[in-house]
Amino acid sequence: MNVADSQRLASALEQLEYEPTRLPDNADVIVLNTCVVRQSAEDKAIGRLSSLKPLKERNPNLVINLMGCLIGVRGNQKILERFPWVDVVSPPSDPSPLLHYLIERTAKQTSQIAQAQVNAILDGDPILPRADQGKLISAFVPIVYGCSHACTYCIIPHKRGVERSRSYVEILREVNSLAQQGVKEVTLLGQIVDRYGLDLPERPTLAMLLHDLHKIEGLSRIRFLTSHPNWMTDELLDAVQELPKVCPHIEVPIQSGDDTILQAMRRGYSVAFYRDLIGKIRQRIPQVAIATDIIVGFPGETREQFTNTYNLLTGLRMDVAHLARYSPRTGTYSARLLADDVSETEKMRRFRALETLQEEIANEINTRLLGQTITVLFEAQKRGRWRGRTPTNKLVFVETSENLLGREEPVTIEWAGPWSLIGSLQA
Ligand code: SAH
Repeated sequence: MNVADSQRLASALEQLEYEPTRLPDNADVIVLNTCVVRQSAEDKAIGRLSSLKPLKERNPNLVINLMGCLIGVRGNQKILERFPWVDVVSPPSDPSPLLHYLIERTAKQTSQIAQAQVNAILDGDPILPRADQGKLISAFVPIVYGCSHACTYCIIPHKRGVERSRSYVEILREVNSLAQQGVKEVTLLGQIVDRYGLDLPERPTLAMLLHDLHKIEGLSRIRFLTSHPNWMTDELLDAVQELPKVCPHIEVPIQSGDDTILQAMRRGYSVAFYRDLIGKIRQRIPQVAIATDIIVGFPGETREQFTNTYNLLTGLRMDVAHLARYSPRTGTYSARLLADDVSETEKMRRFRALETLQEEIANEINTRLLGQTITVLFEAQKRGRWRGRTPTNKLVFVETSENLLGREEPVTIEWAGPWSLIGSLQA
């Protein structure tokens, strides 16, 4: 989501005639787009923010914009008092405060004229930042902002605000425009992406959107993430199965393999429900790859409860598991009311146990691909190797002197590890 937000901001800045620079020392404007989903992300953001102070002291004209979840939809006065070298703050997904500030300050426009210019820039067709033009093969497109679910551990609804689906036609227009600019793949984003449209008067669904996006010429792949188990309809699964451009790749987090913990997290489903859902997804979309998220060390999680998660993951054989150690976030229900009582050492032990398990599972799943020929969409070249992904989102590297940028090519898999594959183009 932040990558998408930053891209949109970069493009808007270019429309104000700014251009990117590699060195912070050369910058007139620095934007720090932040995440606070776990303490580690927040610490990183604060560290970066602190490192900007000397730059501002050397160059008082430098404009520093703090954006994203460190600010949140309701603002964050304390942060401004603590870091007075910040000039402008922007909530997540909103480039307008910085644009407004720059127009008022550098073009010396009144606030009203500045606002009209900001609106004109943000309402126009999205233009890729110059650095991405002709190079960006895969783009992120937010379709649902915010989140209205109340998982007890999660800070996102507090920082990104209530769930807001974007207009159907606006999304179609944006993806059309991206495809015309050379983008081959879009990933539709939402905290609960499968709830797309439920807050819109016409009640469009994600499945309907997939059908319409599928018609866009030039676009070859469509993905969406993240799904919540309770909102994955048969209509959605059928769309994934029926539409060739929609990748057989589902990200649907479970978070814990224990019913008591799931209840304490207020996830709204049971382990049995999730297991059935995975069975149904695999039955309807036989070639599917499924990813999940898991939090270890949630308040009160006993060794037995963790073992339930371990055993579930052993049985489910997921392609990917994003693992996290529970991190209490100020303002959430769990941070206020539940003691963070699993020690850091124990959280790490559980994390490592799942990591080792998942590595074996992913290795086994990927090894089955050896010798198979799979269509890979190539995105970038690094140190003589081309990087691409299979429809199931597996990373593939190919060594070749050919220019593969944006091309979909059949690749024969010759080496498989847990996190990536190596193959060669068919002769
Ligand atoms: N809305 C999506 C993604 C949320 S953030 C969802 O509900 O799945 C991505 C992941 O971060 C979550 O899936 C969860 O596993 C993890 N996460 C969120 N809050 C956390 C916290 N307080 N501590 C540790 N991990 C957390």
